[in-house]
This record gives sequence, C-alpha cells and structure tokens, in this order.
Amino acid sequence: MTVKRGRNFLLTPGPTPIPERVLNAMHRQPVDFAGPAFLETARSCLEDLRPIFKTAGPVFLYTSSGHGAWEAALSNALSPGDRILVPETGNFSAAWKDMAEALGLLAEDLPGDWRHAIDPAQVEARLTEDRGQEIKAVLAVHTDTATSVTSDIPALRAAMDRAGHPALLMVDTVASLVTTDFCMDEWQVDVAVGASQKGLMLPPGLGFTAASEKALAAGQTATMPRRYWDWRERTSEHHYKWFCGTAPEHLVFGLREAIDMVLEEGLEAAFARHARLAEAVRRAVAVWCEAGALAFNALVPEQRAQSVTTILTPEGFDGDKVRTTCRERFDVALGGGLGRLQGRAFRIGHMGDINEPMILGALASVEAALEICGLPHGKGGVTAAIAHLAGQDA
Ligand SMILES: *Cc1c(COP(=O)(O)O)cnc(C)c1O
Repeated sequence: MTVKRGRNFLLTPGPTPIPERVLNAMHRQPVDFAGPAFLETARSCLEDLRPIFKTAGPVFLYTSSGHGAWEAALSNALSPGDRILVPETGNFSAAWKDMAEALGLLAEDLPGDWRHAIDPAQVEARLTEDRGQEIKAVLAVHTDTATSVTSDIPALRAAMDRAGHPALLMVDTVASLVTTDFCMDEWQVDVAVGASQKGLMLPPGLGFTAASEKALAAGQTATMPRRYWDWRERTSEHHYKWFCGTAPEHLVFGLREAIDMVLEEGLEAAFARHARLAEAVRRAVAVWCEAGALAFNALVPEQRAQSVTTILTPEGFDGDKVRTTCRERFDVALGGGLGRLQGRAFRIGHMGDINEPMILGALASVEAALEICGLPHGKGGVTAAIAHLAGQDA
C-alpha cells in the first residue's frame, strides 16, 4: 500500500530542498535589470560569494549547471592541446575529464578505484616526472558525489608544491561548498567550481567559478575559444556583461537570500550541521552492513563525504530497486548508482535544507525498503542514527 499524502523527502545529492525563505525571495515579477535595486543585489551576491569560497578573489556567476562551470574553468585558463592531469575519484572526475577532451585538451587520468580519495603521492610522482612542465592543470573533485569520497585538498596542494610544479589547481566544489570546509586562498586553489542546487539550497541553474590571480593571469593568454564563459567580459564596467546577457534575476534574488541564510548560520556551523547528519546516516548504514550484503562504497572512514553516502548493493541484485522502492512506496527520493556503479549502488544525499526528522524518516524508509526488497541487513540502523542524534552513544 502506498500513502499519497504528506511531504516528498528529497534526499537526492542534488537538487536539494529549497527553504521557504529562498522560494519566497524568488516569487516576484521580473525587474528592470538596469535598475539600481537589481544591480546592487547582483553586485552584493558577487561580493558575498567570496567568503563562501574563502577567497578574496573574484567569483563569476553563470546561468548554467555545474557542467557549465566546469567548462568555464577549462575554457578560461587553458588552451587547446594543453595537457592536464585528472586524478580519478568517480563519475564526476571522469565526466570533467571527458569534457576537457571534448574541448581539445590532452587529459591524462591517474587511475583510481572509485573507493578512495585522491592519492597525493601519486600526483606528486607524476608531476615530478613532468620535467618539461607540460601539465598545465590538475583537476580535482573535492567530493565526488557518485562515490561519496572526499579528497584532502591541502594534501594535494602540498604534493604539487613538493613536486615544485606550476600547474594550476582546479577544484570542483559542487558537492562540498557549504557542506565541507573549503579554503580557496589558504589552500592555494586556482579555480574553484560550484553550483547552486546542492549545499547552497537553491534551484538548479547557477554555476560559479572563483579564480586566483594566477588563474586570471593564465586567462589573459589562454587561447580556448570562449565568449559566454569569458572571465574578462564579466569584469567589465557594463553590468549587462556581468552575466553575458540578461541576468537570471530570480536565481539572483534566491541567491541573495541563500547567502544571507548561510552567513547568518555561519559557515562553520553549516559544516558541523552536515557532519552531524552525515554521521547519523553512517551509523545507520554501518548497522545495515553488518549482515554482509551492503557496504560503504568509500572504504576509508575519514574520506566519507559529509554531503552524500554511497551504499553498494550485492552482486546479482539490482541496486536501483532500493531507490525505486523508496520513491514509489514512501515518496522518498534517493540517488542511484552512477557510471560504473549503475545498478550496483544507491545514494543518500544529506545536504542543504534538511533536518533530523527528515534524515530519520528517510533512513526508516530505506530500512523498510531493504526489508521489502529482501536485502539482508543488520536490524536497528535507525535506532543507531537516533542514538547518535540524541547524543546517547559513547
Ligand atoms: C552535481 C555535481 C556536478 C554536476 O552538476 P550539474 O549541475 O548536474 O551539472 C559536478 N560535480 C559534482 C561533484 C557534483 O556533485
């Protein structure tokens, strides 16, 4: 029996639920994009995104998906034929690399098993070998949402420094922004890529790139053909060029509200909130895994993401069944397995505007779905999550 009442629980690892405050901020008629009120809002958003990336440098805003921001990063700072290095963390590192190849870059991957974070030593070794310094950029996905693995960006930076290599460091923060600490300037990241629909609690449709001075300088001579993505156009005095055309006004109004919410809460508090909910999910998953059929995809506990958890299902079982059962029976939306994990995993998103009852409700629904699907699982996952949230476990 399916109950078609109550709220949908959106626990996909993007898009994520939108707070009423943000929805209300967007519910309005378009305004004159040249008027002072809108320009002030847009300018303040561009300014206030900086502390969210923890950078003093510029942030550029695109009417795009995260894929658009990927393309912005590559096309602004690189030239066709440039060699780049892509440590493999999962489907998102693979897809960014594919895009780089489509743009005429020579992408080399550092193979990974999709269950571990980037190995800084592997990057250091490859860069040290590159005596001619042909590699122009290292592309790293901070949290790979397919595999729910988070990589240590300061360790990667240190490895690049040890190799004494000048390659640009480009980091995809789409799934880590506002959920996991990210310090663009302190970690000497050259290009950071973000999107609106994950930790920032906005609708899909805005992509961001933040650029260091070194990246901006590379952009002055890079020859990748570009116009819409071009950073140089967007720093123009002419406001019409900030967005290369009509601004996505409603998303900008929503962004203003979302930034206010994040700054009111404080970034560190937002990270702690995500860590707490993520740990509740992991406690439940750990219990389910006791029966031996299910497993955490991320093998190293410290590398498990604060924004999403990927759970592997056993050989011979269609992993998507857990997701479809949750959707059809309980109106709970989860993520499916991506890329080589297709049909072999399901993913619980725990980022953005989500609270404890939503997490507990979703975990209870997953536990029920495991029961319905006949998947062997340790009993009491939800109880373990409750114990964590109630602070009663040792
Ligand atoms: C969601 C996601 C993307 C892609 O964002 P789109 O808006 O779907 O293009 C890229 N990288 C990571 C890590 C993501 O989680």
